[in-house]
Amino acid sequence: MKTWKGRTADSTFAVELQASVLGVLDRYCRDAGSVETGGILIGCYSDDLTLAIVSEATPPPTDSKQSRFWFVRGVSGLREMLQARWRAKERTFYIGEWHFHPVNHVEPSSEDFGQMIEISRGREYDCKEPLLLILGASSYDGRRIFRAFVCPAEESPKEFLGR
Ligand SMILES: [Zn+2]
Repeated sequence: MKTWKGRTADSTFAVELQASVLGVLDRYCRDAGSVETGGILIGCYSDDLTLAIVSEATPPPTDSKQSRFWFVRGVSGLREMLQARWRAKERTFYIGEWHFHPVNHVEPSSEDFGQMIEISRGREYDCKEPLLLILGASSYDGRRIFRAFVCPAEESPKEFLGR
């Protein structure tokens, strides 16, 4: 898999999903089988803040709750992990959520977007424009399908289009 780049239709914001992240996510989704799963996205922004670079995706925290139709991401271990990333020489931090739906048609639910709005307005992650990456089952050619959004606190979510 190679690095994926996407841009919002209005070109105000772009995202880069590093190849290693896509590989790891593909494995987490395969491991989950027929239940939903998810975790957080870690990375950084370009100097002008118009590009989010996702460099890491965490596995589901151990206190997450999963079923075929819903997923509640836990928090266990995340605080310590984010502190370590913040202190690292190449500083990275929380930039969003990823989430797996074990179906062929990838559609974020209203709960998914609702949760993102809560995160963007909350103080816990200090992230006003969190990303939402939704992955689906792999297609017939074996490629993992996914859709990516940015969810600003005071606007409706915008989808990234691959380019
Ligand atoms: Zn969902």
